[in-house]
Amino acid sequence: MGFRALVVEKDAEGATSASVKELTETDLPAGDVTVAVEYSTVNYKDGLCIGPGGGLVRTYPHVPGIDFAGTVEASDDSRFDVGDRVVLTGWRVGEAHWGGYAQKARVKADWLVPLPEGLSTRDAMAVGTAGFTAMLAIMALERHGLRPGKGEVLVTGAAGGVGSVATAILNDLGYDVAAVTGRPETGGYLRELGASRIVPREELAETVKRPLESESWVGCVDAVGGPMLARVLGQMCYGASVAAVGLAGGASLPASVVPFLLRGVNLLGIDSVMQPYDNRLAAWKRVASDLPMDKLSAMIQPATLEDLPRLGAEILKGQVRGRVVVDVN
Ligand code: NDP
Repeated sequence: MGFRALVVEKDAEGATSASVKELTETDLPAGDVTVAVEYSTVNYKDGLCIGPGGGLVRTYPHVPGIDFAGTVEASDDSRFDVGDRVVLTGWRVGEAHWGGYAQKARVKADWLVPLPEGLSTRDAMAVGTAGFTAMLAIMALERHGLRPGKGEVLVTGAAGGVGSVATAILNDLGYDVAAVTGRPETGGYLRELGASRIVPREELAETVKRPLESESWVGCVDAVGGPMLARVLGQMCYGASVAAVGLAGGASLPASVVPFLLRGVNLLGIDSVMQPYDNRLAAWKRVASDLPMDKLSAMIQPATLEDLPRLGAEILKGQVRGRVVVDVN
């Protein structure tokens, strides 16, 4: 049976183009589980892979989509039965392996996580890699002592996918959230998600001049990196931690080590791609219990396979607000 997919092709000059095509099951890559994909989403990496690839895609034609949720259609692995609801994030799916921008995907069973009760396949992709990573970041901050009631938690890149979900979960857990955004028009949206303060991006845009500033934040989920992360390190309270998730503002870290030495600040690296299975399961369970579904609905922008070339370009320019949910059917 044929199915539809967003296929990226490369021409002889090396230029890529993405369009929706009809494929057959024999086109699918090897794998032990075939999933009838229901929903996918749009991440920064997807923007790269829908376009020229950013060095992530090695072979063409390619089907992008770094995450998806759906129902098992065929399985050669005893852990999954036909009809099981599953979610996939990471493992370089959608980059090195064909991904979720298709009505069918064939993958390794090791990469799949059963969806927890109470989370639909649509909810799972409203959360997506961005929300799952926000949850991993909050869990890491908790392991390093973050507790509600001690002060404000900073979320950078707050109107983006990671930031939106982090803001909603932190607020629901009882934290005061200060949300950094470069888009003042998203202030109302961020307050609805649970931010109690909006911090304009310009306030943190300057490079580090003094290694220590006033102690302002008891924790931070950072989607931005670069000079902003360097500034934030000098503003953390004594013993507080920053979860470094993203590089929307740059991959360099022009920082001082003084906050580590004089304030015992911790910089925690968060990787969602190679995360071990048990942590994945735990994070998805926490998402199901800690993310308020009404707030999740407010973040959603619905889309189809046909919308993806436009959305891929928009996310690379930082123009996507909240979470895009792609109904591949
Ligand atoms: P989005 O594009 O949805 O959000 C990024 C946000 O960062 C933007 O919405 C914007 O927020 C802010 N931003 C963009 N450009 C700049 C800039 N130049 N300076 C300061 N702020 C900026 O992406 P996601 O939320 O999906 O991902 C965020 C980051 O996390 C990305 O770098 C992504 O690659 C990374 N990531 C990492 C993962 C991991 O495993 N470690 C997993 C998932 C994502 P605003 O408009 O509010 O200012």
